[in-house]
Amino acid sequence: MSVSGLCQVCESAEASHTCDQCGRAVCDQHHDDAFGLCLDCSAGAGGGNGSETGEEPGRGDTGDDVRF
Ligand SMILES: [Zn+2]
Ligand SMILES: [Zn+2]
Repeated sequence: MSVSGLCQVCESAEASHTCDQCGRAVCDQHHDDAFGLCLDCSAGAGGGNGSETGEEPGRGDTGDDVRF
């Protein structure tokens, strides 16, 4: 597939990826390869920007218990 047009985040670089979630065309700088999402979506996915310090204190247990 080919993505033509400018990155819809910075609108200055040529888009080379498409966000899996919102479908926006984004450039390499605004695409998170780890998630396949644009940075806006990957930030909302709770992943952080590749750092392990994305956990916000006080937002841990919100009934989202996963038991294994
Ligand atoms: Zn961009
Ligand atoms: Zn997105």
